[in-house]
Order: sequence, then C-alpha cells, then structure tokens
Amino acid sequence: MGAPALLQDLRRRGLSVAVKPGGDRLLVSPPGVLTDADRTQIRTHRAELIGLLQQPPEVLALVGMTTDDAGRLSDYFGLALRHGFGTDDAEQIAAQLRLRDRTGLDMAMCIECRRLEGRRCGAARAGQMTSASRQFEPIRAELVRCTHFTATTRSAP
Ligand code: SF4
Repeated sequence: MGAPALLQDLRRRGLSVAVKPGGDRLLVSPPGVLTDADRTQIRTHRAELIGLLQQPPEVLALVGMTTDDAGRLSDYFGLALRHGFGTDDAEQIAAQLRLRDRTGLDMAMCIECRRLEGRRCGAARAGQMTSASRQFEPIRAELVRCTHFTATTRSAP
C-alpha cells in the first residue's frame, strides 16, 4: 500500500493524520485505535505521508482531507505542548478539539482561553467567579461551557 492509499484508509476509519509543528513528525489521532500493522505502515511511509500532507488543497482533497483539518490538528497539538502536556496527552487533546470543531459543540478548553494564567483562572483571580476561589485551578484540557471564556485561538467557539 502506498502513502495515498494508506492515508485514505486511515481517514476512512475515522483517523486524522497531520504533520506536527516542525514538519518532521506525524500526528495520528486518536492513537489508541492504531494497530501494529498500521504503525508499521506509517513508519514505512512516514516521509511520503509528510510530503503528501504538505501538498496543495486539491491533492489533500484526494485523500479526504482539507488543509484546515491538517493545520488545526497541528495547531492544537502545539497548543497542548505549550501548556506543558506530554506528546501522548497532546495528541488526545488535539483529537478532542478537532472532533469538537467537526461536531460544532459550543464548548472549549481552558487552554484555549486567554483568561488562563499558568494553571490558574484569571477570571476567578479577578473575583468575577463568585462560586470559585481566587486561586481556582480549572481542569485545563476538559471541554467546558464557561461564561468567562475568552478565545485565544481561531477555532474556539
Ligand atoms: S475563564 Fe473559564 S474557560 Fe477561561 S480559564 Fe477561567 S475557567 Fe477556564
């Protein structure tokens, strides 16, 4: 199986494949459903897959992806890494956020919120959350509906 067929097969099975920031590694999500055979195929065709995913939109469309899909997964992965999550967690977070986008769910993660200050919520610190202490540390990578949410990314609702 060549890289285009492999990419189509992964997409047909609901997996997303994108190039990680830096351009030399792949992000496949959700990683938990990959078989050993998939991993071998991906390793074998890694360079071709990366090259394919960096092609113009019309080429990506042939394997059922848009540049937006590839770009957003990569952006979310980078966002999670910047917030200190490890590679595996960052992959899961990126997959969750991409699924959120696809379903149109009006929820966001605190890592997408400009009010997040390190591990603490700036809205709570400013006393805007009457139900939370000023030291409130939200779960940063859980989808929530928060009235104080202020988007930092292009994708957050
Ligand atoms: S304002 Fe809401 S969404 Fe933003 S960091 Fe605080 S708890 Fe999270």
